[in-house]
Amino acid sequence: MKSYDVAVIGSGPGGYVAAIRCAQLGMKTAIIEKYSTMGGTCLNVGCIPSKALLDSSHHYEDTINSLEEHGIEVPEGVKLNIKKMIERKDTVVETTTKGIEYLMNKNKIDTYQGVGSFEDKTHIKITPEKGEAETIEAKKTIIATGSKPASLPFIEIDKKNIITSTELLSLGEVPKHLMVIGGGVIGLELGQVYRRLGAEVTVIEYMDRIIPTMDKDQSKELRKVMRKQGVKFALSHQVKSVEKKGKEVLIKAEDKKGKEVEFKGDYCLVSVGRKPYTEGLNADKAGVKINDRGQIEVNEKLQTSTENIYAIGDVVKGAMLAHKASDEGIFVAETIAGQKPHIDYNLIPGVVYTWPEVASVGKTEEQLKKDKVEYKAGKFAMRALGRSRASGDIDGFVKILADKETDEILGAHIVGARAADMIAELVVAMEYRASAEDIALISHAHPTYSEAIREAAMDATDSRPIHI
Ligand code: FAD
Ligand code: NAD
Repeated sequence: MKSYDVAVIGSGPGGYVAAIRCAQLGMKTAIIEKYSTMGGTCLNVGCIPSKALLDSSHHYEDTINSLEEHGIEVPEGVKLNIKKMIERKDTVVETTTKGIEYLMNKNKIDTYQGVGSFEDKTHIKITPEKGEAETIEAKKTIIATGSKPASLPFIEIDKKNIITSTELLSLGEVPKHLMVIGGGVIGLELGQVYRRLGAEVTVIEYMDRIIPTMDKDQSKELRKVMRKQGVKFALSHQVKSVEKKGKEVLIKAEDKKGKEVEFKGDYCLVSVGRKPYTEGLNADKAGVKINDRGQIEVNEKLQTSTENIYAIGDVVKGAMLAHKASDEGIFVAETIAGQKPHIDYNLIPGVVYTWPEVASVGKTEEQLKKDKVEYKAGKFAMRALGRSRASGDIDGFVKILADKETDEILGAHIVGARAADMIAELVVAMEYRASAEDIALISHAHPTYSEAIREAAMDATDSRPIHI
């Protein structure tokens, strides 16, 4: 029987990063993945394929709607080849997942394909799809088994017309009417992809705003822009039933006045969140406790109820984000190696990759009000920037929230072109406990979108922004 210092179950951004860090720190490491490709949800059916389709559909939309304004005429009309678009996405995924295999080899990590299940707290049985099962021994194990799409109890996902993000990413045709249940990250990113490709898109959301966990101003701005792009929204609607009627899907929902509203379309995307995945793990055989939300219970060191077993990523509490999973992977590897790593969960940025992008770090205005923190807000509209006018990306804003007394930045919220990349400046600033004035005093290249960060910081401090 092969024996390891550490075995990692699951090869998503949590698991593979944990395995690499363990190997770097001199531990003999194995990684076990149920599927034939590495990379988990993120690389196979999540972050990477969704961004590939967002980029492709953005090119398509620009070609139709924006090129003429730039003086570029497309003589013969524009033709969409959805099959080719999906094939390109698959190639991006394949190249990226192969990259993980390369990294495993480079770091001398043994990879096992099969379902990993505990026999006891130091033995894991690996059952491949074909062939013999084998058992390995591990002094420590890191569970990184991720999550699967959640649904509503009355919905039967048939994977044909009533689908999750996994099927929508490989659909191969443009729906006539895509109905999206859930106006969160997945619903908006993938809703925007198919809207750009020509589908009618209706987002049905239970709450009174989209992306309800982000700052309210971001919800409002993104909804305003997406409505201009042609996406319809039914907010404060509680879905009551989803039925397939011949070739159509019929959704019945109740609006906030209690009135029944019907929606009909050819596809229904269910994007109401994701649930932790522990099926087949036999967690109980190792004494690993799972809470009533299906998450593996962990302490502040991400250690489970069994001392030598840790858990990270989507399968434990916290934001279901790839970088959060990776941060936790590094944290656990370093903890096992006897180091004293640190994660500040308040400073994990959140991004929605629609266009305009939406990015956030720290506290929202609603949280500060709820916590009775006295704060000041500085805001700057993207449309006032020369860079925005040059590119035509005039939607959005930067909002910086700072402590009223100390001026320390407590939260930053951006909607706009390249917000996903811009938020990094504010994460660094907050990590170093910068004040809004610190940002206001730093030179920002001109013309860039990041000038809006400086202007918002100026607005939050006593000085006034220059370009309002
Ligand atoms: P996962 O990536 O889910 O990986 C878990 C792996 O464990 C899987 O490969 C699974 O097969 C394997 N596994 C499970 N059980 C076993 C077992 N018993 N034995 C062996 N293997 C097992 N996050 C972002 O930060 N940015 C984004 O842009 C983004 N976009 C997304 C888009 C979509 C459409 C979706 C669905 C998600 C997106 N996410 C994004 C979320 C992100 O994918 C997850 O937060 C991330 O993948 C979690 O990583 P993980 O390592 O915890 O688990
Ligand atoms: P989500 O939690 O982002 O959004 C779910 C939405 O569904 C919420 O707005 C919620 O109010 C709504 N909802 C819940 N029940 C409903 C009901 N009965 N009727 C109507 N609406 C209902 O979940 P998601 O969009 O499915 O994404 C799952 C996870 O994947 C998220 O945690 C997210 O962090 C992650 N993800 C991240 C990214 C990114 O970082 N860019 C992209 C995609 C997914």
